Amino acid sequence: MIFITLQINSWRSIFSKPMKGTMMTDAHAAIILQILQDTVAVPKLVKTKNDPFETLVITIISQNTADRNTERAFENLSKQFEVTPQALSKAETSKLEACLHVGGLYKSKAKTIQTASKIILEKFHGSLKPVLSLPLDEARKTLMELPGIGPKTADVVLLFSANQPTIPVDTHVNRVSKRLGLAPAKGGYEEVRLSLQSLFEAKDYLAVHLLLIAHGRKYCKARQPLCQKCLVNTYCTSNGLGDKHD
Ligand code: SF4
Repeated sequence: MIFITLQINSWRSIFSKPMKGTMMTDAHAAIILQILQDTVAVPKLVKTKNDPFETLVITIISQNTADRNTERAFENLSKQFEVTPQALSKAETSKLEACLHVGGLYKSKAKTIQTASKIILEKFHGSLKPVLSLPLDEARKTLMELPGIGPKTADVVLLFSANQPTIPVDTHVNRVSKRLGLAPAKGGYEEVRLSLQSLFEAKDYLAVHLLLIAHGRKYCKARQPLCQKCLVNTYCTSNGLGDKHD
């Protein structure tokens, strides 16, 4: 711990704070990642068999839903059904909705899961694995052709289930990246994702995604970020203000 503190202090003296509103350099980004890795606990992930279809289902359930309720809804689903395209495409819609009820938006989520299950069966013979082994851009495009699947869900499935080099941008990743200067303040999904990917090494993409979420929940909150307590405020381009980068 002493070594880490000394190392952080020495980095702080070597690198000056980036100018407010400017973009981050690779060197600052690396320091921020190191500090977050040393100090922030990453969010607990819902337990799965690391099957891409399960990851897809969990990501659909998690939309606008707290982690605990996502976990409960997935547990309900797993108890009632085998989480496979075969089983869920044939499931009674009302039963599927009942399983997902705790997560909110359960009717539209049940519909998305069922429609996606049918298409995965028809188009991909029931398995997403061949899709995930396509080159990244092709795999993303193919996943996003499924109804209700946007870039974030596609990127989560690709990163978590296939270790493809992409960084999913959820609301926390978007807000924190922009406040820190890791991404352009007015950037859309793709600009934020590509900016983060250009600053970090591919081996760190999963850590970057998870740590920015954890930091956003604990310190860099949407309203009233805790800038005084923030462990990376020295490097933040909106230090003390949180700015309106949501
Ligand atoms: S200093 Fe404030 S705005 Fe910047 S990352 Fe920390 S909490 Fe967020």
